Amino acid sequence: MHNKSLSELSASLHNGEFSSVELTQHYLDRINAHNDNLNAFITVCDDRALEQARAADEHLQQKTAGVLAGIPLAHKDIFCTKGVLTSSASKMLSNFISPYDATVVEKINAAGMVTLGKTNMDEFAMGSSNETSFYGAVKNPWDTNRVPGGSSGGSAAAMAARLAPIATGTDTGGSIRQPASLCNLTGLKPTYGRISRYGMIAFASSLDQAGPMAKSAEDAALLLNEMAGFDERDSTSIEHDVPDYTATLNESLQGLRIGLPKEFFGEGLDPNVAATVEAAVKVYESLGATVKEITLPNSSLAVPTYYVVAPAECSSNLSRMDGVRFGHRCDNPKDLEDLYTRSRGEGFGEEVKRRIMTGTYALSAGYYDAYYLKAQQCRRLISNDFKEAFDDVDVIMGPTAPTTAFALGDKTDDPVAMYLADIYTISTNLAGLPGMSIPAGFVDGLPVGLQIIGNYFDEAKLLNVAHRYQQETDWHQQTPAAFK
Ligand code: GLN
Repeated sequence: MHNKSLSELSASLHNGEFSSVELTQHYLDRINAHNDNLNAFITVCDDRALEQARAADEHLQQKTAGVLAGIPLAHKDIFCTKGVLTSSASKMLSNFISPYDATVVEKINAAGMVTLGKTNMDEFAMGSSNETSFYGAVKNPWDTNRVPGGSSGGSAAAMAARLAPIATGTDTGGSIRQPASLCNLTGLKPTYGRISRYGMIAFASSLDQAGPMAKSAEDAALLLNEMAGFDERDSTSIEHDVPDYTATLNESLQGLRIGLPKEFFGEGLDPNVAATVEAAVKVYESLGATVKEITLPNSSLAVPTYYVVAPAECSSNLSRMDGVRFGHRCDNPKDLEDLYTRSRGEGFGEEVKRRIMTGTYALSAGYYDAYYLKAQQCRRLISNDFKEAFDDVDVIMGPTAPTTAFALGDKTDDPVAMYLADIYTISTNLAGLPGMSIPAGFVDGLPVGLQIIGNYFDEAKLLNVAHRYQQETDWHQQTPAAFK
């Protein structure tokens, strides 16, 4: 059951082969069997899920159910979910039961899908290994001594171990694509503004974007159909038609122009990862694509630019967590100052504090021009590089991450080494472009992702490019031996 695609599950539900309650129970049993080991879920919504499944079964019986009705999914714990703990993996929100649904959750509920639970993540989505969570590290199902990637590591581990048929994630600098790469998944970060951010706990508002984490491009397209669209409650959401993302999956790739940025194949890239990515590109050539080397000359500015912009925005976003209205509050504050200081001091973890300090510093009056303004200028240069590149090519390809999954604890003492795990994904967020990671092979038994970057609103093209590859290869169907 748990290796079926979403369209297979949908067909089985619609023709009565099994019910949504049976399907949901199957996944709840798998979660029950494996979550202690993986720590992929912060909250499992047993009763609620079965209730949603019963409601979906009624629609299925009455033939009023949509294509995804009755199919379970897991939400990253960054999406506000009414009546359910929504912690963003922080002690600060470890008592926060959301009074409302994020737009993404609302839309997915309206499609009749069943929420299995909320997945673990790096605290407030800050991290690349899922080790900054207040709820503890998540393990990679491919090797439980290794990280699943982050920050959407819980969704990635849940998907890799087939504890959910599909999951949501968010990507501020790589948090969908990098864990997808490390866990052998298909992950899509859409164009900034494609999916509403309303009710998605903000990390860096000008970079955050939600997206699907799936077993295949076809599954990702089906969920994107439900997630995408304008939302008047998010002022950065864009009014742009939502096509049926499944309609163009099979289009021919004859004549597709692929650009390989030379900066993505330089120092720091594991040669075995490079070879795997190059082999994937060869598959595209056999499908009729042409390949040329391109340049993104300002690539080396991406990590430093991001680590000014993202902390600056997070220092502002997290200021609302002050122990007064919601979230963690310290015991017996002696005055207001003490309440703020101790609540925040106790509620936030080390990495989050590091970001708040850096961001506040970068925004302070004396340093604003030197850091924040300069970073915004660099951001423009990075966007312009892509703009020029897309004059000559249709999609850009390269590695998603420089290495396969690293060992737990390997980079926890070295923030800069951790930051470099996103070296190939961050520039896409700074430019607001859509990007994907798809399974492209293995090195020493560990998955490698191919990254595909498209022009603004080219999600349908990316999914088409990914889908055609998945018809030629079966990397995306491989699952870890311990979780069959
Ligand atoms: N790893 C990056 C960071 O720590 C990106 C995280 C993300 O995309 N949410 O900020």
